[in-house]
Amino acid sequence: MPLLKVDNISAGYGGETVIDALSFHVNRGEIVSLLGPSGCGKTTALRAVAGFEPVSDGQIFIDQKLASAPGMTVPPEKRSIGMVFQDYALFPHLTIADNIGFGLRGKPDVDRKVQVDHLLDATGLGGMGGRYPHELSGGQQQRVALARALAPRPTLLLMDEPFSNLDVELRERLSVEVRDLLKSEGISGILVTHDQHEAFAVSDKVGVMRDGRILQWDTPYNLYHEPGHRFVADFIGQGRFIPGVVSSGDAYETELGLLRGKRTCTQPTGTRVEILIRPDDIVPDDNGDIEATIKDKAFKGAEILYLLELATGTRLLSLFPSHHDHHLGDAVRVRMDAEHLICFPAAAEPNNSSTESIQ
Ligand code: ADP
Ligand code: MG
Repeated sequence: MPLLKVDNISAGYGGETVIDALSFHVNRGEIVSLLGPSGCGKTTALRAVAGFEPVSDGQIFIDQKLASAPGMTVPPEKRSIGMVFQDYALFPHLTIADNIGFGLRGKPDVDRKVQVDHLLDATGLGGMGGRYPHELSGGQQQRVALARALAPRPTLLLMDEPFSNLDVELRERLSVEVRDLLKSEGISGILVTHDQHEAFAVSDKVGVMRDGRILQWDTPYNLYHEPGHRFVADFIGQGRFIPGVVSSGDAYETELGLLRGKRTCTQPTGTRVEILIRPDDIVPDDNGDIEATIKDKAFKGAEILYLLELATGTRLLSLFPSHHDHHLGDAVRVRMDAEHLICFPAAAEPNNSSTESIQ
């Protein structure tokens, strides 16, 4: 039995359903993310797990005990969970050590001190216990919030966009630190975020959400390489869709010629499909059979991401090694080098919803 089992829950506000028949589970020691655009119901789902929102359908089990069901909600303080939010709201008049030890009031002083000192060290705040929150940077304050949530040794830590107030570099570093810390403390976690890089850095499994539902629950690797849903393919990573027609089990007629995949397409022969082409599927090759014009570029350090336009007007993204420094309007030759192809039934209207800008 997993540590947390969310079984077919629905929840909402004032009769309006926000999350609908949502199911997932978290095994002991596992860290998962709920990833999706703003407004898709991530916070509502997390608040239901925390016990702040009742469920109108389904059940939540924590450690095999029923925690939520229609008409029954075990309160947050009885769930053995810790929580960290975006606005981490430290107590300004308490020292860092007292902030961290806040949830340990009532424990003997010596136990409390051991645990606070341990967490100060574990979060890289050793020696700062006597300071006050305003004397710390934003990143350090967020570490205090994390330490405070971990102090009572919850079995499950819930994190709602905990890094979104921080700058990108710090966000990435803290994500990795949080993962390491939870793993070393043996605490399971759920991270809610709209930032796929954050979700990927922290999680064993990620649920991609849209409109109150999880569309795919999978490893970060599979979400990128094996998206099971058009929305997931679009939301995760970069890429463009080109139209095609299934010509046999693993081949597609396209304007780039016959593209062959390594597996059998689930669509019947003759079906119009859209094929996902990632930037790493298109490689520069002076002898390549595809001619394209450079429409936009974004310098990425070791690589340059180019937006290419074919004679037909179709646009593709391609990663070139950084020394291939072309100008907008240049003609280049490329070829397809796809490990495998992912296709979806064609939408009524061709739709590359990724923005045209690649910066
Ligand atoms: P996310 O965290 O993914 O951005 P939320 O769970 O916060 O999404 O919100 C999902 C939907 O529920 C949104 O349409 C939002 O406007 C609505 N909502 C969130 N909180 C409340 C509330 N307290 N009262 C009414 N509607 C809410
Ligand atoms: Mg939210």
